Amino acid sequence: MSRAYDAVLLDVDDTLLDTSRAMIAAGAVALRELWPGRDDGWYQAASERFRVDPGGHFRRYTEGELDFEEMRAARLREVAAAYGLGYPDAGHDRFEAAFRPAFRAAQRVYDDVRPFLARCAAAEVAVGAVTNSSAAATADKLDAVGLAEDFAVVVTRDTLGFGKPDARVFAHACGSLSVPPERTVFVGDELAADVRGAADAGLRACWLRRPAAVVSAHAPDLTQASSTAPEGTLIVSDLNAIPGTGDPFRSGSADGAESRFGTGGTGR
Ligand SMILES: [Mg+2]
Repeated sequence: MSRAYDAVLLDVDDTLLDTSRAMIAAGAVALRELWPGRDDGWYQAASERFRVDPGGHFRRYTEGELDFEEMRAARLREVAAAYGLGYPDAGHDRFEAAFRPAFRAAQRVYDDVRPFLARCAAAEVAVGAVTNSSAAATADKLDAVGLAEDFAVVVTRDTLGFGKPDARVFAHACGSLSVPPERTVFVGDELAADVRGAADAGLRACWLRRPAAVVSAHAPDLTQASSTAPEGTLIVSDLNAIPGTGDPFRSGSADGAESRFGTGGTGR
């Protein structure tokens, strides 16, 4: 029996790792360094604001307009301005010095990831990671959870100087695995960057909608209807719902998946 596809590319943040929760936890620690003496609720709210990034600085980073340090400093200044706080000397450096170890310590891999990677290995499906985070941050995250050796390729925003949803990022990742886009599944949690980006680049898109992974303010795509995904998108809430559980990557129906994948689909 032939495989339904030959490669799987996975987003990292909030796909493999519970990144939003880790960021908010680490941000609260780092904000306490800069602005001590406030109540716990403030640190939580301000850290959530840093994560949500209402100024859109992360998007500018993914488009190559800002480098990583500029992007992070801009987000910190946005938080300070939003709360009417003075910006302390060396604020960004002090924030990062506190954030990085707290973020590393807070890393957690989702329970379905290792079984899914084992299924891929058993089926001899090539696996790569494609993230809009930086090379250094990604290496640290994967190392922290023991996944540093699990991907044949890791493409970050730094690989080409810009990130998803640019079609060249997906093409580069497929090329690195020597698998054509139409034989590659892309799995991610973000509708625009992952799902539409992959579909537009000719990959087979899988939208991972983890239930209650984070509060909706940090995962706005969870509030989007499934029908907003491109035709042919496979929608799952667990990696192991990708067809087919117990019969990895063989053509056929998706077990429990809301599948509009491959032949026919179920309409929208
Ligand atoms: Mg993500």
